[in-house]
Amino acid sequence: MSTVEIASDAAQSPAGFVEKAPLERYVEPDKPSLIGLTRKQLTAVLGAIGVPEAQRKMRVQQLWHWMYFRGFTEFAEMTSVSKELRAELAQRFTLARPDVVAEQISVDGTRKWLLRLAGDPDSKLPHDVECVYIPDTERGTLCVSSQVGCTLTCSFCHTGTQRLVRNLTAGEIVGQIMVARDRMGDWPGGTRPTDGVVPSGDRCVTNVVMMGMGEPLYNLDAVRDALLIVSDGDGLGISKRRITLSTSGVVPNIERAGNEIGCMLAVSLHAVRNELRNELVPLNRKYPIEMLMEACRNYPGASNAKRITFEYVMLKGVNDSIEDAKALVRLLKGIHAKINLIPFNPWPGTKYECSDWEQIEKFSAVVFDAGYASPVRTPRGRDILAACGQLKSATEKLSARERMALRAMAMTDE
Ligand code: SAH
Ligand code: SF4
Repeated sequence: MSTVEIASDAAQSPAGFVEKAPLERYVEPDKPSLIGLTRKQLTAVLGAIGVPEAQRKMRVQQLWHWMYFRGFTEFAEMTSVSKELRAELAQRFTLARPDVVAEQISVDGTRKWLLRLAGDPDSKLPHDVECVYIPDTERGTLCVSSQVGCTLTCSFCHTGTQRLVRNLTAGEIVGQIMVARDRMGDWPGGTRPTDGVVPSGDRCVTNVVMMGMGEPLYNLDAVRDALLIVSDGDGLGISKRRITLSTSGVVPNIERAGNEIGCMLAVSLHAVRNELRNELVPLNRKYPIEMLMEACRNYPGASNAKRITFEYVMLKGVNDSIEDAKALVRLLKGIHAKINLIPFNPWPGTKYECSDWEQIEKFSAVVFDAGYASPVRTPRGRDILAACGQLKSATEKLSARERMALRAMAMTDE
């Protein structure tokens, strides 16, 4: 039985920086899923069950094709693989993805899934994460989680208030994209949805953002292994330019992410002064704005064509003044940057409010005049509360029976 412990650097925390201790661990099921294994790991698995060395590379290639290109869930259907090997694999492994416990579909085509992961048998608490799909005419973006909960405690973020924390495995991260493809017939020959906005190309999921629950740079190894499968041409085939990793600013891992993954980077900035950022994003006490900007300047591969996105959540009377907008522009000088202004999505019990639309427009005008296209992310899926953390909290209030009913509903929708 193997376990994965959570990465965290709470041990050397500066004064005032509070990081939650991880409460949960991942315990591998007796029959693990092959989803999420790197080619090297899958080769080792094949070796361990007696596949001759000369055949392993070819078998890995075949398995990847059935798993990631075709999306098959049964070994028995993998016709190019020998019958004996199919039977051997089926006896020891699965191709399971996370379980869908709830699915919500917005009138605009936005979809949100609550996914249940294999838990720790010693814990009574379910390990749940969310995954949100946002379609557009040109692209379909999937917002993926990297942790159950988050060890960090950003004051405006609902995930930050959740107690339960554990790292996702690479398989659970890749599995989220596979669930979305399963649910939308997004495999070759599948029947795609026709309701709401549907992207024009031949795939529903064309882009991935690591912006769901959790801090991906506190789970870098699994996130790296997962994203390398997602971006592999023989894997899920989504190019690195269409994958964005969002971080609250884990400075030492920014360079590693650039070198080891090479995807697009988004930084949750939200404030231009350390005093305010310490409050909004407490990790700032450890890695202040100057250090963060330095890491962004040095982000491997950053260029005008591959710009870093700076996310800025609009909080009424907190960080939304014209002075702040001007300071933001000054701060980003010399960095290949894009700016994303995000209307704050309120949650029950929060002390913050979203800035008035008028103020967002004024703020955005300053940013625009400085030469940045500053799109304000339009809230999508409002009718299904498609912001991070909200589906999970809604279902937490349900009884076990209600949860089962939801689960059954989700299953019969297939
Ligand atoms: N932990 C990572 C990625 C997950 S959060 C990070 O912090 O970057 C993804 C984005 O959603 C971040 O920019 C985060 O600051 C923002 N966010 C969190 N709660 C929000 C809310 N209630 N309204 C709007 N944006 C929010
Ligand atoms: Fe964690 Fe990101 Fe939420 Fe901060 S904003 S608590 S880092 S998920």
